Amino acid sequence: MKLTVVGSGDAFGSGGRLQTCFHVATAGEEFLIDCGATSLIGMQRLGLDPQRVSSIFISHLHGDHFSGLVWWMIHSHHVTRRTHPLTITGPAGIEERFVTAAEALFPGSTKVERRFELRFIEYMQGEAIDVGPIRVTPYEVRHPSGAPPYALRIETGGKIVSFSGDTEWVDSLITAANGADLFIAECFGFNEPRGYHMTWREIEHHLDQLGAKRVMLTHMGTEMLAKCSEVRDPRVLVAEDGMIVDV
Ligand SMILES: [Zn+2]
Ligand SMILES: [Zn+2]
Repeated sequence: MKLTVVGSGDAFGSGGRLQTCFHVATAGEEFLIDCGATSLIGMQRLGLDPQRVSSIFISHLHGDHFSGLVWWMIHSHHVTRRTHPLTITGPAGIEERFVTAAEALFPGSTKVERRFELRFIEYMQGEAIDVGPIRVTPYEVRHPSGAPPYALRIETGGKIVSFSGDTEWVDSLITAANGADLFIAECFGFNEPRGYHMTWREIEHHLDQLGAKRVMLTHMGTEMLAKCSEVRDPRVLVAEDGMIVDV
């Protein structure tokens, strides 16, 4: 499994990083984890082809994690003229939130007749969803975003990659991360707890408990970005836009 960091930034553009998006390629399948507003820009920079992506797994309904779907759809319609299906999984109400965002930004864009099947699947806490050979299991976390937010555990080809989404520390992260080959953890702060986000100090404290083989920090705010060099645990890497990780 090859994971490419398309965007490792927060909602505030900290460090000039793009918004959250990870591209995963396995034998015969490509998919995205989250799709922030800048996802298409990031994919174009990295030479990743949106046409090859068969599914998109969304953690929660904040703009820096799902609004890239708006540009994705107009690109699919007008540029690539996609004809093969796309499956999007996300919290309850994801289709309605997508339509509202798309109609605000590109009026009429959701009313055109699509050449491809677009399928939305809503999460149920702890229930696995199979999308082709990819199994995603959502675990609820704590991060107000107008719909339940989730950490995602994604299993395919004998590998497990988990993602915290955005959240303060909650024990459900252990269930999502345990035994994962890679756990991607939001790490907005270094030391200063901020509501509904995690700090490096909290993640460090829970590293053994999380039980993932490797942890990748992402979604860093300015305090964390200034102190990345202080993260020295050999199990932990700090994401950069464009970084490729062999899982
Ligand atoms: Zn975010
Ligand atoms: Zn968020």
